[in-house]
Amino acid sequence: MDFRLSEEHEALRESVRDFAREAVAPVIAEHYERHTFPYEIVRQMGKMGLFGLPFPEEHGGMGGDYFALCLALEELARVDSSVAITLEAAVSLGAMPIFRFGTAEQKARWLPKLLSGEALAGFGLTEPGTGSDAGGTQTRAVLDGDEWVINGSKAFITNSGTDITALVTVTAVTGTNPDGSKELSTIIVPSGTPGFTVAPGYSKVGWNASDTHELTFDDCRVPAGNLLGARGRGFAQFLRILDEGRIAIAALAVGLAQGCVDESLKYAKERQAFGQPIGNYQAIQFKIADMELKAHTARLAYHDAAARMLAGEPFKRQAAIAKLHASTVAVDNAREATQIHGGYGFMNEYPVARFWRDSKILEIGEGTSEVQRMIIARDLGL
Ligand SMILES: Cc1cc2nc3c(=O)[nH]c(=O)nc-3n(C[C@H](O)[C@H](O)[C@H](O)COP(=O)(O)OP(=O)(O)OC[C@H]3O[C@@H](n4cnc5c(N)ncnc54)[C@H](O)[C@@H]3O)c2cc1C
Repeated sequence: MDFRLSEEHEALRESVRDFAREAVAPVIAEHYERHTFPYEIVRQMGKMGLFGLPFPEEHGGMGGDYFALCLALEELARVDSSVAITLEAAVSLGAMPIFRFGTAEQKARWLPKLLSGEALAGFGLTEPGTGSDAGGTQTRAVLDGDEWVINGSKAFITNSGTDITALVTVTAVTGTNPDGSKELSTIIVPSGTPGFTVAPGYSKVGWNASDTHELTFDDCRVPAGNLLGARGRGFAQFLRILDEGRIAIAALAVGLAQGCVDESLKYAKERQAFGQPIGNYQAIQFKIADMELKAHTARLAYHDAAARMLAGEPFKRQAAIAKLHASTVAVDNAREATQIHGGYGFMNEYPVARFWRDSKILEIGEGTSEVQRMIIARDLGL
């Protein structure tokens, strides 16, 4: 058992850490305040190869693994979560379904652009009326000659409305299974397809420099060849994508939790109260020690899930545990970091204010904490 990172992974972690400190930290607060998408940061991440990390070189990837992606997400989220979720969604929800389930033609058409960061893709599963219960999907796609005709809407779709968004993959009901349940399939809808409308961005509590939209499909026609994988495989496809994605979200949550430790440590040494730095008081020391403990154990949980996944072993339960624990820890650490900063913690100019706003969604997106508990309980045989 070796908990140390390989030389390659350590080098990647360091280069992303430097990038986050030097290129992201100085500009992200302004994007966050203005709710603007950080195109320049995305361009630089593309040049670094971050969008291609877990993909083979033959498709334009970096030939790394999913763990490499997780390390990059952790280091980015240590500084900012909008940037981290942009990368997470672009890779694990955007490019990954095409890589895992696409035809040779679909891969050749889309992957080079997506893996270079030149273009982004979104993944549309959630709908205004249903999220956790994907069986409640209402969006329908009907085959008309050699075209799918899509009607319905999707809610909260990340990376779906940027200037460089090339496509969204959407889940839709395409028929009825022999047991009477809905037949779900996944279909690629290129940006700009007539009948596909992207609503203005949401007003969100956090992740303010990330791109999120409601999407509407009104007699939207795409070629029959835009079906992703086999017809009726939509359910199995998104379960696989979400299982993996949970490890990535756990890594992102660990990054936020660690960023809270970084900022609190710095502040505790600088801020004076009653004639000495607040870090001299045991109450503050214990808070920071507990925050470090939580970030560390959550990190071990996602490393374990990623190691199982890369070894080809079952990892569903471990991914749910990692996501559940890391998101809880992120919220806890953001709350304590704000407390340690006192009144300044409530001011948006301090990174911990951003961490606090960005932490809550981690207990909701890519499966709520209740859904993670359902997955764990089911896997235990209940
Ligand atoms: C900023 C942002 C970005 C997002 N990006 C994407 C994206 O790119 N693509 C995408 O498809 N979706 C995306 N989502 C959607 C997200 O994944 C869903 O919001 C999430 O899965 C929860 O679904 P819901 O909002 O419909 O909540 P609901 O499913 O309606 O749940 C409401 C509450 O009920 C609880 N609940 C539901 N069922 C049960 C049960 N059986 N037992 C106990 N409790 C239950 C839930 O845990 C939750 O607390 C995004 C959301 C946000 C806010």
